[in-house]
Amino acid sequence: MDRRQFLGGLASTFALSLTGCAAAGNATIPTPTPTVKYGPAPYPIPEYVPPITPRPLPPPVLTKIQRPNKTLYELPGEGSLMAWTVDDGASSETVAGYAKFAKESGIRLTFFMNGSYSSWSDNAAALRPLVESGQVQIGNHTYSHPWLTKISDSAIVNELQKNAKIIRDLFGVDAAPYYRPPYGAIDARVRSVASSIGYTAPVMWYGSLSDSGRITPEQVVDFADKWFLPQHIVIGHANFPSVTEVFPKLRLILAQRGLQTVTFNDVFL
Ligand SMILES: [Zn+2]
Repeated sequence: MDRRQFLGGLASTFALSLTGCAAAGNATIPTPTPTVKYGPAPYPIPEYVPPITPRPLPPPVLTKIQRPNKTLYELPGEGSLMAWTVDDGASSETVAGYAKFAKESGIRLTFFMNGSYSSWSDNAAALRPLVESGQVQIGNHTYSHPWLTKISDSAIVNELQKNAKIIRDLFGVDAAPYYRPPYGAIDARVRSVASSIGYTAPVMWYGSLSDSGRITPEQVVDFADKWFLPQHIVIGHANFPSVTEVFPKLRLILAQRGLQTVTFNDVFL
């Protein structure tokens, strides 16, 4: 076959296929008669499974920025980041749940821990690799959770440094400059005393799971639905295990909104 014949052949095949289409389009296609009657399935229909594969998310690729020299309530700028922070640690079971969830999901968390709770040493072995990889950050929430605005300068220093030593011993990291004043209680004196020992970045929040006390798992989901938003710093607590019952739902909210969890070390230089 020479080139002309070959092209001619192609052209006629094309023409044939066009005709075929037209013919099929105009033809009356008989509707198949069902041969089976539809009734209840002879087996249980599986429950709806959300289309999220339970595999760890990769770490974010971010260009770090200079940390603003002020109290942080949210992450600066436009974007789709969210800082999920978890405070206190009154419940060892809940800290364990968070550690397992982080490992399985790749979700990035910052724990503002109180060293007075044994939950941190109980779960140090599970958390340490996550801290070492940078997926989990540890911030200073004082040793015993006092109102910093109501104690002396030296007591503020002692609360932060005693907690810092426990953090170093358990996780081998320095929590500074990030700290969260218990109850969000902060003033110019607290800021000045804390910054004199390297704690220059007080971290507040813009949205809460409101679970410092006991609430239901459904309420945790409602608060996540309200506050899991771009560039928000959200506060949760490792004090009651309700949150551990709804981790898949919280993860789904993040995924549906395209939110990437980050630590403060991920974002700031
Ligand atoms: Zn607290």
